Amino acid sequence: MRWKSFLVFRLAGIQIIIDYSWFIIFFLVIYSMAENYFPATQGSFSTSQYWIMGVIAAVLFFLSVLLHEMAHSFLAIMHGIKVTSIRLFIFGGLAQVASEPESGRHEFLIALAGPATSLLLGFGFGLLYLVMFLSGHLGPVASVAGYLATANILLGLFNLIPGFPLDGGRILRAILWDRWGDVTRATRVVSGIGNAFALFLIIFGILLMVAARSLISGLWLVLIGLFMKQSALGSYQAVVLRESLAGVQIRQVMKENIVSVDWLLPLDELVREYFYKYQYTNFPVLNRAELIGMVSLDQVKEISKELWMFKQVRDIMTPIEQVPFLKPTDDATEAFRLMVSHDMGRMMVIEGGRLVGMVSRRDLLDLFKIKSDLGIS
Ligand SMILES: [Zn+2]
Repeated sequence: MRWKSFLVFRLAGIQIIIDYSWFIIFFLVIYSMAENYFPATQGSFSTSQYWIMGVIAAVLFFLSVLLHEMAHSFLAIMHGIKVTSIRLFIFGGLAQVASEPESGRHEFLIALAGPATSLLLGFGFGLLYLVMFLSGHLGPVASVAGYLATANILLGLFNLIPGFPLDGGRILRAILWDRWGDVTRATRVVSGIGNAFALFLIIFGILLMVAARSLISGLWLVLIGLFMKQSALGSYQAVVLRESLAGVQIRQVMKENIVSVDWLLPLDELVREYFYKYQYTNFPVLNRAELIGMVSLDQVKEISKELWMFKQVRDIMTPIEQVPFLKPTDDATEAFRLMVSHDMGRMMVIEGGRLVGMVSRRDLLDLFKIKSDLGIS
């Protein structure tokens, strides 16, 4: 599932991406705070003051979610895992990593860091609320603190539910992984729990809508349940895919009939004669017989259409020194990981300085499909 992103910035070397979809939850928080929560807990303010409190509470809640994801990220970085970005979207946050933890213990610590941070924040805001309550200062600040305490503790506890894709699922998987030494089996169990919990949310949500007539809350639970169901399945498939590709060499799956483009080819011809015709996401670039780079669809997209006939492949290509490539003896699992982390649809296979083949994500997925059709994993 890909949402369009609205805002991107960097924090401590990590790219923070905020999706448009995230604003739905942001405004929902402000609205429910300003119209329901604060008027119910704080009787003596004007509507505009309730809305200001709502905005402050929503911004601080947003920072709390971000801190939760930053905690995961810092632990991951400490264990040598590259964190590419943190994405905030309608269902919360997601730290995207370039590789998976090597052991259950690492995964345990990385997964625990998020909920631990949320619970700590929750207790911190709770303490602030308590201090203000005891000293008789039950104003708007106390009210916002009280809300943030509740929200963070709920966020921490919800994430500790032991089913994929929640943090609790990762924690349980880490424990089972350590005990059994079998990551696939551990993943299957935790995905099963995640799936069951997702179903529970969906049914509970429908009941809320039908029986209790709480349309918004019910629909919300159904949507979260559907999202979790999808992710639980996805993370299980990813592990099975890894297992299935392990031990397969790139030599066995690469395509040897290579279509390459000349470095002097104008971009309009490149689009017409190559991207349209072959539907690949990228092509190796040759100067006579020498391999000098790679050109991708994304690079063409950055140039406005009117300029396509005036520009050539060499103006936009990535020079060969900067293009990540594979060797024929590389493992398919590693190849798949590299394609995902470099966001490449196809990679070159190079042996002794010579281009000997191309391999795409599709090739690897097709192989996986054929193997599972034949009942070989
Ligand atoms: Zn988390």
